[in-house]
Amino acid sequence: MSITVCKFGGSSVCDGDRFAQVRSILRADSDRRFIVLSAPGRRFPGDDKITDLLYRAWDAADDTAQFIFTRIYLRYASIRDQCAPDFDLEEEFSRIRRRFRTSRDYAASRGEYLCARLFAAYTGLPFVDAGELFHFDAEGRIDSVATRRALQERLLPLGRAVVPGFYGSLPDGSLRTFSRGGSDVSGALTAAALEADVYENWTDVDGLFTADPNIVPEARRNRCVSLHQMERLAWAGAQVLHPDALEPLKGTGIDTLLKNTYCPDAEGTRISESCPAFVPCITGRRGLYIAADFNPENCCPLPRRAPFEGSMRVASVNAFGLTDAQTARVEATIDSIHIIHMQDHLQIIIPEHDYAATIRRIHEILLSSDEG
Ligand code: ASP
Repeated sequence: MSITVCKFGGSSVCDGDRFAQVRSILRADSDRRFIVLSAPGRRFPGDDKITDLLYRAWDAADDTAQFIFTRIYLRYASIRDQCAPDFDLEEEFSRIRRRFRTSRDYAASRGEYLCARLFAAYTGLPFVDAGELFHFDAEGRIDSVATRRALQERLLPLGRAVVPGFYGSLPDGSLRTFSRGGSDVSGALTAAALEADVYENWTDVDGLFTADPNIVPEARRNRCVSLHQMERLAWAGAQVLHPDALEPLKGTGIDTLLKNTYCPDAEGTRISESCPAFVPCITGRRGLYIAADFNPENCCPLPRRAPFEGSMRVASVNAFGLTDAQTARVEATIDSIHIIHMQDHLQIIIPEHDYAATIRRIHEILLSSDEG
């Protein structure tokens, strides 16, 4: 039996039309047996992710929380009305409301829980709760042995199932979430435990690009990237995958395929131990701060911390795959605060307002010939 584990991100399940799209992706390939879902994400720029609303409701006083609950309910109700009219959302919702203050992690986990319940009702696939599958130890680290055993014992006999991402349970039975974006990790743990043929990670872009296509329209999709490089990119700011999502797959031979729910026939990007050493790629982070009297001579890895008096708002741009000649051109032409030669890439610290222009310029150098 071939097994594909599919994880669909928040933008892939943000409304009823997207639910229908995910169902047709599953129908197109019967190997897509185990489905890990995020909570509904943004439907349009400026919209809210359900998980953000849940955190806001947790932080809010009761009357404001009430207002936020109504918004959350209406999001799910519109999916229910379109896709699973018999699903008793009101019953589920009032149970969640009653238990909402159990813990912050419980509150946040309900986005994935409800989404997967609804999707299971829509498709007729069995639902298995993440609390029974993903186990953390008392310190909050994933218990790989217990998790692997639970995934195998609970999922394999079913042959197909829908599972909420993002949370699991602590030894005392209470729920715990992964860090933000953690459904990627839930999907990877599932793929590794079930010894899947492939782990498909479905999102709203065609894969890993040479730079963010919103900033660099001529950026190209990389067809393949090594697991090591993808992990480095994720830590350096690439948002397409959670930085911890590749750890469970190391040494298993299971490839991860980044795919676009909005364009399912596009080839995507394959993350594999067998991909070439380094492909060209630029990523970065904004919203960093360094002290105004920062001295590059004493440089250390860039701090990521709240603003303090006398601090300066900067961004870090990380360029992978530059040749020596291209590195020299970056050093000669980019007006940076500091450039750090990391083991496998160049980190360029710039004032934050130069972020987009710097990415565009480095991308030009990266895709040019050495002499360019
Ligand atoms: N819904 C959670 C978040 O927004 C987890 C996930 O999407 O993977 O971070």
